[in-house]
Amino acid sequence: MNFEKYFEEELDGLRENGNYRVFADLERKMGSFPRATRYSEDGSASDVTVWCSNDYLGMGQHPDTTGAMKEAIDKCGAGAGGTRNISGTNHYHVLLEQELADLHNKESALMLTSGYVANWAALGTLASRIPNAMVFSDGDNHASMIEGMRHSRAPKAIWKHNDVEDLARKLDDADPEAAKIVAFESVYSMDGDIAPIAEICDVAEQYGAMTYLDEVHAVGMYGPRGGGIAEQEGLMDRLTVIQGTLGKAYGVMGGYITASSNLIDFVRSFASGFIFSTALPPALAAGAAASIRHLKNSEIERMGQRRNVRILRERLDAIGLPHLQNNSHIVPVMVGDAKKCKFISDLLLDNYGIYVQPINYPTVPEGTERLRITPTPLHTTEDIDALVDALSELWSQCALSRAVA
Ligand SMILES: *Cc1c(COP(=O)(O)O)cnc(C)c1O
Repeated sequence: MNFEKYFEEELDGLRENGNYRVFADLERKMGSFPRATRYSEDGSASDVTVWCSNDYLGMGQHPDTTGAMKEAIDKCGAGAGGTRNISGTNHYHVLLEQELADLHNKESALMLTSGYVANWAALGTLASRIPNAMVFSDGDNHASMIEGMRHSRAPKAIWKHNDVEDLARKLDDADPEAAKIVAFESVYSMDGDIAPIAEICDVAEQYGAMTYLDEVHAVGMYGPRGGGIAEQEGLMDRLTVIQGTLGKAYGVMGGYITASSNLIDFVRSFASGFIFSTALPPALAAGAAASIRHLKNSEIERMGQRRNVRILRERLDAIGLPHLQNNSHIVPVMVGDAKKCKFISDLLLDNYGIYVQPINYPTVPEGTERLRITPTPLHTTEDIDALVDALSELWSQCALSRAVA
């Protein structure tokens, strides 16, 4: 086997389809969010405004977050020093888990290395360990849930995205004796649409199914204390498991699940992806806990964020640029062509100092290529104007159609 040749050919295949990923080489600037320095391949550096960050509220540079992290490093050092079981449980982990359980009004919480690992480990463990388990997965679920379910080898039914009737049909068709797990998200990342959580819980309850909700794009963002869409709609107690990340709106890193004490103890005791991995640095736990606490008590970030989403949508409408309507903070501007999407993104970056990563197949279906724009409370009205003006020029240059007002 010529390994090198194989790798090269596979990568060439990606390049030919326009699916080869090129990372923007950024240096985020503390205190200047959403500004960053971008390094080009020739080594030159320029200033860019980031419009596609999942640090939705700029909490990654909030003094509460960074202050807590610095303090924890000075107190405890860099790493945790072990797995949670073997000397790696730091008091900051314990405090964070209490904060998380309180956030979602659950008995208990467990921190994992990332949101990805949380989904993979928790769903994988539940679906493989619970006798006769069967998973019912929304058709648009994130790769981390899909991998967890696949790893579990439990039978799986995929229901049409956000389609409660289809879920009900699939539950009805299944073995009545099966231990059913309904897995879905609240805010879907690419379309920004929101699941009908209450209706899904109704159907799940009817069939005695447990519910597993990924609130990764909603925690910190929705609900009076940032508990997510389920908090906003008063539904947290109806969900068996609420999963989230500390890496998006909370601006740090790490993932978690919250649930009953028994369920959390079960995952803690059986999930390989939790047990055999070094605990995250205490400073991450401290920073995340401070960020969560801040967003439990402050609405300013969420309000500013919503205001900027509203202004951006109004400005896009005024010049007829098509964007998906949804009730979330994600503004998908629809290009509908992989090459043009990449082209617009490249020119935004090179000529306008604006960074929006193109989203192409296979992340989204072909023909729905888009720029996924995430306004933060720290973008200014001038930033929005600059973005919309640049988009307007590039839209004309690419001869893309506009909606008639
Ligand atoms: C980003 C994401 C994850 C993974 O979270 P990380 O903390 O980034 O690993 C899980 N689920 C969804 C829906 C996501 O978009």
